[in-house]
Amino acid sequence: MIIVMNPKCSEREVKAVENELTKQGLGVNLSQGSTFCIIGVVGETRIIDPDKILSFDGVDKILKVEEPFKKANRLFKPEDTIVNVDGTLVGGNHLGIMAGPCSVESEEQIIEIAKSIKESGANFLRGGAFKPRTSPYSFQGLELEGLKLLKVAKKETGLPIVTEIMSTKYIDEFVNNVDVIQVGARNMQNFDLLKELGKTNKPILLKRGLSATIEEWLMSAEYIMAGGNENIILCERGIRTYETYTRNTLDLSAIPVIKKLSHLPVIVDPSHATGYWYLVEPLAKAAIAAGADGLMIEVHNNPQCALSDGQQSLKPALFDKVMKKVKVLAEIEGKTL
Ligand code: PEP
Ligand code: MN
Repeated sequence: MIIVMNPKCSEREVKAVENELTKQGLGVNLSQGSTFCIIGVVGETRIIDPDKILSFDGVDKILKVEEPFKKANRLFKPEDTIVNVDGTLVGGNHLGIMAGPCSVESEEQIIEIAKSIKESGANFLRGGAFKPRTSPYSFQGLELEGLKLLKVAKKETGLPIVTEIMSTKYIDEFVNNVDVIQVGARNMQNFDLLKELGKTNKPILLKRGLSATIEEWLMSAEYIMAGGNENIILCERGIRTYETYTRNTLDLSAIPVIKKLSHLPVIVDPSHATGYWYLVEPLAKAAIAAGADGLMIEVHNNPQCALSDGQQSLKPALFDKVMKKVKVLAEIEGKTL
């Protein structure tokens, strides 16, 4: 439920409505701009007597929210959320370009890649330390050693780091050492993990599940937000369809749909979406043209020898070329890096 206040209402009038709602055990989410003042109500809203609320001074009208996601809903917060990662912004007109290897493999590897992607204009370094692999016999990541190496690369380049968490067991480790905590496609509905991340105030990169609907994806964001953490960046990374030629099918329409339904920023990962390096450039360009707030792209200095996902990784020179085009498209979209 949404209570639309008169844009000219006083602080005292807003407080009076908020007090009434909290007295009834409901959660309130105030969103105020120069032309609007909205009180989003979360909880068992059926107990609310609309006539009573309408009798409060300053209340214009009451709207029912049909969607099950509330805090993630654009109706609750009409303005774009801009996630601030220690001064690097994602959302609004700020693009977040996250690049780096699928897996952190060595100090030399991660530093060399971090330097080159920074040179090309990326503003985040990605790299997996804990890897969700289909086979238990495949490389599982350097784990805590990988986190250390990411920190070394951050020290060298100043780039904030994005890396995937797989278990609640390492929450403290991630909160203390990582700038953006990634929840991978396979864990999008790991509700225990989402609840724990909701208790932190770290920016979260929430990838879309392998076969998740947009609503399920936004409900996962809602889990994190319900705990109090509203710093979420969504990431479309392709979904399973009957097409097997590409690794997944990139759902580009999800970008404008998310923009309509939610205020959260949404970026696109054309690497995992397609599975082939030569498809990354066209889909990265398409993503920016479709209104994405950024990209996540796998880049490796020696893809032939990569311990994971070499076939979909760009060499630094190609990433540089892609970035030059992305910057032109970003300008058309009124976005900056
Ligand atoms: C990744 O980004 O390294 C990754 C494993 O992605 P996804 O969860 O989208 O498969
Ligand atoms: Mn990968």
